[in-house]
Amino acid sequence: HRLGARVTAVNGGDGEGPRRQAAELEALGIAVRLGDDRTLPEGTDLVVTTPGFKPTSPLFEAAAEAGVPVWGDVELAWRLRGPGSAPWLAVTGTNGKTTTVQMLAAVLRAAGLRTAAVGNIGVSLIDAVLGEEPYDGLDVLAVELSSYQLHWAPSLRPHSAAVLNLAPDHLDWHGSMEAYAAAKGRIYEGNQVACVYNADAPADATPRTEDLVRAADVVEGARAIGFTLGTPAPSQLGVVEGVLVDRAFVEDRQQQAQELAEVGDVNPPAPHNIANALAAAALARAFGVPPSAVRDGLRAFSPDAHRITHVADVDGVAYVDDSKATNTHATEASLAAYEPIVWIAGGLAKGATFDDLVARSAPRLRGVVLIGADRELIRQALARHAPDVPVTDVARTDTGAMASAVREARALARQGDTVLLAPACASMDMFVNYNARGDAFAEAVRALAAEGRSEQ
Ligand code: ADP
Repeated sequence: HRLGARVTAVNGGDGEGPRRQAAELEALGIAVRLGDDRTLPEGTDLVVTTPGFKPTSPLFEAAAEAGVPVWGDVELAWRLRGPGSAPWLAVTGTNGKTTTVQMLAAVLRAAGLRTAAVGNIGVSLIDAVLGEEPYDGLDVLAVELSSYQLHWAPSLRPHSAAVLNLAPDHLDWHGSMEAYAAAKGRIYEGNQVACVYNADAPADATPRTEDLVRAADVVEGARAIGFTLGTPAPSQLGVVEGVLVDRAFVEDRQQQAQELAEVGDVNPPAPHNIANALAAAALARAFGVPPSAVRDGLRAFSPDAHRITHVADVDGVAYVDDSKATNTHATEASLAAYEPIVWIAGGLAKGATFDDLVARSAPRLRGVVLIGADRELIRQALARHAPDVPVTDVARTDTGAMASAVREARALARQGDTVLLAPACASMDMFVNYNARGDAFAEAVRALAAEGRSEQ
């Protein structure tokens, strides 16, 4: 609309929410059609869609029949880039996208480059690409992309890209694991310099991020670059005796490996987060960033709230908020970072199963406190795979529920333990979002700490 197109906004609903949005759009002079998301408005040349529409939506059938292209916001942004616009370093994956993109932006900044972390992170790529304040004159973009966005971005061709990891997620939207992985794999298409993959993916995983690189059609000379928490092979980044090292972009031919940073420079230095740092470093190195900027950028980075955030120590027990762990893959990573753990879990399961997570994490668990609508599913998995781990149930779902959960956790914990909120579930049964859930946890922990002080 701003660029002069004639736009009709379409929403299948016609309830209060859509009507409120319609009023806002109409005030801008945009036509709106509510209650019909099956047919194309007369004279449509292009459909620009959002993740709210599944790929099987009848609207897209109608578009295909009429020979009208369908683009997502990323495709639109890609096509709107002007000559000489900033190249994209792109990141996707089931978990760790936001963290990695922020680390990448910190490293690029440390190298003196003008950059912004944009895309699925909550900053419109279209705004960034149009290059208005504060996005004017950027040297490079650190772009977070979701599988939804990649699905509808056929002509995207990043400078370099990384797929951090692949675990089942959003399968209801994509239809199958194959379709989900294929959407993620799109990020490697047309890469000019480096396709960064996770070299630690289990051998039986299907597919692995490395397989997605192999399937992609890249620019001649573009390289596959792996990252591993172990000793790196040539063309990989990895970890040797507590040091992040680069064996892919070694400048000095005499040298086998370039040291980048210490594990302790990564905040927090949990294994999954070191993997994120290696992926960010690989993309930055592909863009020509020197090793010292990798170290400085990682040191300057601190994670967003509710991502393995240490809240407080009370009576020798650490309380950690990983409310952002909304699926089992993320939760497994954060459970792997501590031992012994009193684990607070539960919420909306979104069709997930918990057997693998519980079976693999059981040895680290001191106890479990279950909250939320689908807690019974986790309890059943615990009964099957960890029958000796004590489990407490918080049945209430009102605003005081999290305070009850924290109290129950305190009762189970011993000195040296970690109480970890890593719910493996969405929050919307009890909270507005994961932020509110994490805030409730932090508030309850601080109340506990204050009690302890007044008792002394
Ligand atoms: P995303 O943007 O992909 O949702 P975030 O960076 O916001 O990812 O992290 C979400 C959660 O996923 C974190 O709270 C953490 O528990 C987990 N996580 C982060 N990085 C990884 C990783 N590399 N592998 C597995 N889990 C991860």
